[in-house]
Amino acid sequence: YYNKDSLVYHNGAIVKALGTSTQLYSQTLHYGNGIFEGIRAYKTTFGTKIFKARAHYKRLKKGAEVMDIPFNYSVEELIKITYELLKQNNYEDAYIRPLITTGADMSLKTSDESVLTIQCWKWGKYMGDKLLRVKTSKFQRPNPKSCYVDAKVTGHYINSILSANEAKKAGYDEALLLDMNENVAESSGANVFMQKGNILITPKVGHIMPGITRKVVVDLCKEEGIKVEERDFRLQELKTADSAFFTGTAAEVVGLKSLDDYQFPLDWNKSLGKKLMHLYKQEVLCERKELVKV
Ligand code: PMP
Repeated sequence: YYNKDSLVYHNGAIVKALGTSTQLYSQTLHYGNGIFEGIRAYKTTFGTKIFKARAHYKRLKKGAEVMDIPFNYSVEELIKITYELLKQNNYEDAYIRPLITTGADMSLKTSDESVLTIQCWKWGKYMGDKLLRVKTSKFQRPNPKSCYVDAKVTGHYINSILSANEAKKAGYDEALLLDMNENVAESSGANVFMQKGNILITPKVGHIMPGITRKVVVDLCKEEGIKVEERDFRLQELKTADSAFFTGTAAEVVGLKSLDDYQFPLDWNKSLGKKLMHLYKQEVLCERKELVKV
């Protein structure tokens, strides 16, 4: 993720990653009270573009707000800092990880201090290019009445780590989690879509992370005349789907080969997921609007 020359934004300045220090008494370290984001920048014909920067930084700010973490950066400032950081690191494309950590306070009320760090590194497709073999997890997604499931709070990711470890130990690539009502929710770090005939179905918001990639995919479907239903569905229904895929900033659009012992029957190359994988790539590379114009 870093070498001796890597630069990060930390506590108000762009500095070398090596040599920066973090607060040992931070609530983020002890209790998981911190907020993060996962963003990608792409090298496009118009130069480096941070994809959906505004939406990601709005979500970061919303996370700080729900956890009462003081955070005074504006979305515009955050975007400007991030472009500068990419430039100083000589990155034309990168994965970007903003992280708000909370100050030294061992009480269980949010500290009145916070520090923003932004790291970035070169990262290929998080889940690779292969079709994924997925295992239904024994862990459920968190109950929305016990935390803000739509905020990227560092502590919430224990649930993701437990399910990803469980899947990996059993020889699978990824986990699929149900919500507290036994509806299909999402993977450890991506949203899920299934294809049935010519329509796509994805869990509605409420018990899931409302993914920015998920929204881009839904919007692409609208533009392309592909019908998408946002509704609850059970595992049994997913196991009758023709095809399925995950969406996320890190994972982008990635197809599923199987879920437990169910093999998705439709050839991935003929699926709507494959088509959307291609459209998504065009969108992040700013190639779509151009195509529409000509
Ligand atoms: N679900 C979970 C649990 C996640 O952590 C993420 C990544 N933020 C996603 C879905 C996908 O969200 P996005 O498309 O905004 O990256």
